[in-house]
Amino acid sequence: MSLRATRAEIDIPNLYSNLAFFRGRLSPGVRLCLAVKGNAYGHGLVGLSLWAQPRVDTFAVATVDEAAALRSGGIHKPILLLSPHSREEIPRILALDLEPFVSHNDFLADYQHAAEKHGRSLRLHLKVDTGMNRAGVWYDEALPLARQIANGKSLELFGLCTHFASAYASDMIARADTENQLRRFQAILRQLHREGISVPCVHAANSAATLHYPAAHFDMVRIGIGAYGYCDGTGELRPVLSLKTKIGLIKRVPSGAKVSYGGTWQAKRDSVLALLPIGYADGYSRQLSNRGQVWLDGALYPVVGRVCMDQTMIDVSDHPHPATLSEKDVQLIGPEPNAEFIAEQTGTISYEVLTSIGQRVPRIYLE
Ligand SMILES: *Cc1c(COP(=O)(O)O)cnc(C)c1O
Repeated sequence: MSLRATRAEIDIPNLYSNLAFFRGRLSPGVRLCLAVKGNAYGHGLVGLSLWAQPRVDTFAVATVDEAAALRSGGIHKPILLLSPHSREEIPRILALDLEPFVSHNDFLADYQHAAEKHGRSLRLHLKVDTGMNRAGVWYDEALPLARQIANGKSLELFGLCTHFASAYASDMIARADTENQLRRFQAILRQLHREGISVPCVHAANSAATLHYPAAHFDMVRIGIGAYGYCDGTGELRPVLSLKTKIGLIKRVPSGAKVSYGGTWQAKRDSVLALLPIGYADGYSRQLSNRGQVWLDGALYPVVGRVCMDQTMIDVSDHPHPATLSEKDVQLIGPEPNAEFIAEQTGTISYEVLTSIGQRVPRIYLE
């Protein structure tokens, strides 16, 4: 185990509590798929997934490489491949037993060929674009593609899915857009039903839609950010990740001292500063220079000067006992200050704050 002072602690009881919260919102039999793309939203792809495996039904990743890491790490449950893949990756998709999303018919022959080689059928999820205008076949053209897959030898039309663009927002326009997407999706389901094409796994909802649009649950929901504790104001979800380090040096500087690259912060009084062995290479954004706040002994202390690649300075002059701070634990992301707050400070969203946490930061799973 790494002994580096900087680490991301992953609180498994909080993960389980968030998953249970979502389960509690679902009708019996509705499957729960956990999105673990982007290094499990920064929580460690394989480590997090192994802890989650007993409590979820399916996993979702963006790339074949992510799926390969899951399989060799011991994940045996179904894995959805959300993002478009290349033709060359089809043999690996079969070998790893993945379920790709399909938005066009270019690869159907290749899928068939690969499936026959493996002596089994391949489960496909037809992705329908109901209005996000990103991945998926446009809803008007979904039916012919669905027929083609359903009739394809060694192919199984296992899933039908869509993705909402604005389920997280509660304003009237966003609600109307989401309901419009949902109506288009339901229309396709009715058409398939009329034609006698059955699809065992219909799914549409991400975390926000799962909470706000029960009519969008269907057979499975795809939860990401909510499982990690960052969706909506229910007040019941708990951040799972805490990015922490230990103070590496205490330094007294005189009034007027300029700190870090470019001297962008200048002490207005004789000050006590603390050096943190963490920087933007660990995912602590340089945009937090002179702006970030870190949690130490139950209070927030400001980042002073530029955040560097591996080191960051904070001002602890207001701490009651600065002399005692050497090697003290400091929290940079966690319940305090949380990823949403940091995202507001850096002009992004909690997803990006979490997925940016660097590969070199060890993830420690706490039971
Ligand atoms: C990432 C992703 C999800 C999960 O979304 P959250 O907002 O994190 O819950 C669901 N569906 C698709 C297609 C995704 O790419």
